[in-house]
Parts: sequence; C-alpha cells; structure tokens
Amino acid sequence: MQEILFLLLPIAFYSGWQAARKRYKGRQEQRKDISVRFVQGINYLLSEEPDKALDVFLNYPDIDEYTANTFLLLGNLFRNRGEINRALRIHQNLVARSDLSKAQRASAMLALGEDFFAAGLLDRAESVFTELLKDDPKHADACEPLRNIYEQLHEWDKAIEITQYAQQRSKVDRSRLIAHYYCELATQELQKQNLFRVEETIKKAAKAYPASARVLVSKGDLAYARAQREEALEFYRQAIEKDTRLLGVLFNQLLNNFNHKDELERLYSFVQHAFTKTQDAKLFGYLLQLARKLGKITEMRTQVEEHLTKGKPTLNTLVHSSDVLAHLWQEEKICDIPQLQTALQRLSASQPDFQCAQCGYKMHGYLWRCPACHQWDTVSNV
Ligand SMILES: [Zn+2]
Repeated sequence: MQEILFLLLPIAFYSGWQAARKRYKGRQEQRKDISVRFVQGINYLLSEEPDKALDVFLNYPDIDEYTANTFLLLGNLFRNRGEINRALRIHQNLVARSDLSKAQRASAMLALGEDFFAAGLLDRAESVFTELLKDDPKHADACEPLRNIYEQLHEWDKAIEITQYAQQRSKVDRSRLIAHYYCELATQELQKQNLFRVEETIKKAAKAYPASARVLVSKGDLAYARAQREEALEFYRQAIEKDTRLLGVLFNQLLNNFNHKDELERLYSFVQHAFTKTQDAKLFGYLLQLARKLGKITEMRTQVEEHLTKGKPTLNTLVHSSDVLAHLWQEEKICDIPQLQTALQRLSASQPDFQCAQCGYKMHGYLWRCPACHQWDTVSNV
C-alpha cells in the first residue's frame, strides 16, 4: 500500500507544479526554473535517489498552499515507510519557513511532532505538540498524540490533564480513560506507600467514572495495604461481580493474600454463586481450583459431570476437571472417563481444523485461498 502511495507522489508534485505555474504566470524565467526543478525532483524520486530529490525540493524557492501540502504528503510518506530522517528533514524545513499560513504551519508542526514520536524522541515530540497547543489552544489534533506520549512515559498526571482538556473541546466522553489514569496514579502512590494520596486519587477516579470495576480493585488494594482484609475481599468481590474477567486477573493474588480458611470459603461461595448465575466456563476452572484447596473435591462431582456433558468445556476447565476425576478415582474408585471423553470430543469438534500460515486466520474447512489475507496455498492443518 505504501509503495502505491509513493508512486502517486509524482502526480501530487505535478498538481503542485501546475499550481506553481499558474502563480508565476507572466514571470517566464522563474517559471522555467520552477518547472525544471520539479522535473528534476521527480526524476530523482523515480530513480530511487530520494536524498537528491529532497535537496531539490528543500531548496525550492517559494511555497504556496499546493506545494506546502505536497511537501507534507511527501514527508508523511517517508515516515510511513520508516524513513524518519527524511520525513524530519522535510517537516523541519517546512516549519522553519516564514512564508507559511497559520494553518499550514500547524499542519507542519503536527507532522513534525509525529516524526519525533515515530523516532522514539518523545521529549522532542512533546515540546512540538505543546508548542502547537500553546500557539492555538483550539488545535485539538495535538491532544491525542500528547496523550499517547504521556501514556508511554507513565506521566499519568499530565495524561489526565490533556484528556480532560480534549474532552472539554471535543465533547467525546473519555471519563472511562480518565478513571484508568487515576487508577494508574493510585498504583504508583501505593508502591510509595502514600496511602492518603492513594485514597484521594481513587476518589477522583470514582468521580470520573463511577461504573468502573477497576476503581473497586484499587479500593481493594488500598484496604489490603491498610490491613483491612475483610473490606479488601469485599471490594474485590464487587469488582469481579461487575466484570467476571477480573477473576482471572486477580485469582493468584487472591489465593496468595487471602489464604485463611474463612476467606477462601467466602471466595469459593462467591465464585460458585457467580458461576451458577453466568455459567461462564472461565469461572468453572477457578471454582475447581478453590474446591481443591478447600478439600471439597467430592462435592464437585455432579457439577463436573454436568459441565463435561452439557456445559461449554474449554482446555482450561478440562485440565481442572480431569484433576477432579483423577482424585475421585484414587479416593473412591469412581471412574468418569466416558464423560471426559465426551467433553474432549465436543471441544475438539468446536475447534477450527485449519489455519492460514500467512495471517493466522483459523477456519473449520479447507480453503485454497485464505478469506482474510487473500493469499493462495497458505492454509494448512492446525
Ligand atoms: Zn491469511
């Protein structure tokens, strides 16, 4: 795709040249000079000598709307091809010109900031975007790249500030994101044991996005740091109830931190309740692990059989179910192998048999041409 865009450059230059021609109509000598330079520059581009082409275009005497846009396009294409130094040369040259309009200068600054960002020079990118925003506070285009920079630098205070600023201007709701940033900030403060600041930050997160499950996790972390184990467990329970994915994220932490029998019992009854309500297979694996830890394996037999024959087994739940079955065989000589076999057959039937080696797309039946990346002869057995 990039190659195609690059091949379109001569057309972009040609339109720039045409505009330049019109502008200099009547000034024959200069026009001749401009046309010679354009042709020369295009020739260098076509003959894969981009540096010589750059020298020609960067020494271009006068600039108007068309040529400025053409230079911007050329620089962006170089950046997209990974040729950051060339992109920087073009955009730096544009920004340094005194004959640009305000809008052109803003576009050139934005492009220059993106070059620095792509080059990993985050501090330079930050100062370009900040300057752009200072020049024109309404220039919301600079907010998104600045937000990305602060995310990468883990400067959550600044990330919050710029996101709130952008939200006020664009009217796009970013409150969920802002709550995430406050929670990141709370985690940083928790590592420094600044518990009061953690509490203040969590309050701001909850205010920004009251529905956030992550805020409940942060509240749990704070309560645990204050040795309020019961409150902590309750916050984690509420978080998982809001978003069951969080059980996977928190499970090992919960097992390590809440290893008193009564705490494990609370956790077990909560996961049991959540599984009964949702029938979410992800929860079943954790439920079996908790049952094993609490010595309740025999009690799980009916539920395991039901899951194997009627539920939606996954590789994870099969591993934990077979663990339960092995235990039942050892202790009570109960053999439920046929159920396990049924579950394995059902799981196997639900899995795609073929995969594209080019893009990884999975499919049930063989296809000569991959429907995702459209390559031929790339599909084979998983
Ligand atoms: Zn493919």
